[in-house]
Amino acid sequence: MRAEVISIGTELLLGQITDTNAAELGQHLAKLGIDHTHRQTVGDNLARMEEALRLALGRADIVFTIGGLGPTADDLTRDAIADALDDELVTDEAVVEHLRSVYGKRGVAMVESQFRQALRPTCAEPLPNPNGTAPGLYASRSGKVVIALPGPRNEFVPMVEGPVTQKLLALGDGTQLVSRTLRVVGIGEAALAEQLADLLNGEEVTVAPYAKIGEVHLRVTTRARSDEEADSRLNPVVEIIRSRIGPALYAEGEESLEQWIVAELVKRGETLALAESCTGGLLSGRITGVDGASNALLGGIVCYSAESKVRDAGVDPIVIDQHGTVSRETAEALALGVRSRFGSSFGIGVTGVAGVVPVEEAGGIKKSGTVYIAVAGESGVRCDLFRLVGNRSTIQNRSVSYALIRLRASILGLDS
Ligand code: ATP
Ligand code: MG
Repeated sequence: MRAEVISIGTELLLGQITDTNAAELGQHLAKLGIDHTHRQTVGDNLARMEEALRLALGRADIVFTIGGLGPTADDLTRDAIADALDDELVTDEAVVEHLRSVYGKRGVAMVESQFRQALRPTCAEPLPNPNGTAPGLYASRSGKVVIALPGPRNEFVPMVEGPVTQKLLALGDGTQLVSRTLRVVGIGEAALAEQLADLLNGEEVTVAPYAKIGEVHLRVTTRARSDEEADSRLNPVVEIIRSRIGPALYAEGEESLEQWIVAELVKRGETLALAESCTGGLLSGRITGVDGASNALLGGIVCYSAESKVRDAGVDPIVIDQHGTVSRETAEALALGVRSRFGSSFGIGVTGVAGVVPVEEAGGIKKSGTVYIAVAGESGVRCDLFRLVGNRSTIQNRSVSYALIRLRASILGLDS
């Protein structure tokens, strides 16, 4: 079953609004396992709307329209659908009654144009719209289906999730795609694909790696009639993956690395303190974005200048004189210093060059993207050098991700 989506509205073409409805519908179709092969956007023009519909009906089995169902003169979707299906518009008396009661309850008199919302092609039935006046349409002719949905998001989303899903499930074989996301750190996408090569092209269950910053997400998917059926297929594959890659698999589902870290520190009764130079507080931001972060994070310092590194994080000035601010020695001193000042179980020091201009200082020239990340814990301090590429914010955000990855390894004692 192939689907095509036509977004209708001149304001979409002008870029005045973003087509979030089409994006949400796309995600929903993927979840339902319906092939979504094309998308069009067309202005509020009857001839061009009809042209778009005919093109779509020529190559798809189900065509969705979004918008243009209201009562005003530029709401022409009903007319275009009737034309494209070589059908005629008739007034649906049940919808007229419904409109009278809705407007009656609001205490407003109906004007003539509002009755346009009760028009439908003869081959169509209205689709209930609990949050608006204009119903949607479900038209079916010559093996093709057209589903018309209203533009306002508060009407659109409930209709997609409710009546539209019901209709689509009835059209299909009753199966849905069910996916699980496994989150992996410390193994690159290529190495992971190699370790899981035999699983990547499974018949019942597919495994697809997606590279993220410093992480790889594995999407494990199957098609099933029920959650139980999906579980019975997905669980064994997830177990195989778990046994092959071990602790590199840090979470399943929506849990982020920082959520995992906060939960794990709390579970262990351990705490954290941060000394950030080139990330300027972004690492603190990621961690404090997690509910309950206060149970694990004792505090952080943004020590951007050399003086602050000495005064606020306790770095020995001799270290900076000898090795410079961007150095292994300074990162380690930051991590140890902040750990001891805050009395935390772990301390992190991040120092590097996020800007494009290289830094010339003691110890030599430090190129853009040179970042040292140190984690201090009970068993000592470990520092890693990262050579990152990208603009300022990319380098900063990657540094934050790598700091979280390094911290995770230290918490689990995976440091080698
Ligand atoms: P109304 O009864 O409000 O006229 P309608 O079904 O005719 O509804 P439109 O007039 O096309 O829908 O759009 C109404 C509003 O819905 C737009 O101003 C816009 O805010 C929002 N909207 C329309 N289409 C989209 C879309 N594809 N993505 C996101 N928002 C949209
Ligand atoms: Mg409108």
